[in-house]
Amino acid sequence: MTAQRTVKVDRNLCVGTGLCADIAPAAFMLVAGKSQAGDAGSVAVDDLADAVASCPTSAISVWDEDGNEVDLA
Ligand code: SF4
Repeated sequence: MTAQRTVKVDRNLCVGTGLCADIAPAAFMLVAGKSQAGDAGSVAVDDLADAVASCPTSAISVWDEDGNEVDLA
């Protein structure tokens, strides 16, 4: 079963390491030196969790189809 998830990046917190885009390139892309959310629905949950865990500034949040934040930790 796959739940539809979306990701959000707080660009005020992002420091542009690129780690999230390296781990889950479909869900994150660097634009002007900061991460921008892409298509999280095509990314395995484990990869999303790894991307969230890799972010040094906790700039990434994950949301379900009902608009509730999902804790993947
Ligand atoms: S891992 Fe965090 S700080 Fe690094 S590019 Fe992604 S959102 Fe920005």
